[in-house]
Amino acid sequence: MKRSQYPVLRGTITSINRIDPSAGILTVWCPVCRDYHEHGWTMADSARRPSHRVAHCAGGPFHEHGYLVAPWRQSDPEAVAHVAVPGRGKR
Ligand SMILES: [Zn+2]
Repeated sequence: MKRSQYPVLRGTITSINRIDPSAGILTVWCPVCRDYHEHGWTMADSARRPSHRVAHCAGGPFHEHGYLVAPWRQSDPEAVAHVAVPGRGKR
């Protein structure tokens, strides 16, 4: 399987390292495990360039080749829920 054919799991940056803000945690939904998998994400990397990861699945179709992960793009409908509007957040 070519890398370009690997599945892309998109998700949300759920935390940023307090000591090293260039490092984040990307949480993606895995349709095989029906659960979330957490992967490291370099904050400077573009959501337009999915990055390869070893699958966190226990077996299943992603196990051999892994998958690509990336945050939601601005154009993804899911991204809207993750945009914080200043002054509109609940406290
Ligand atoms: Zn999985």
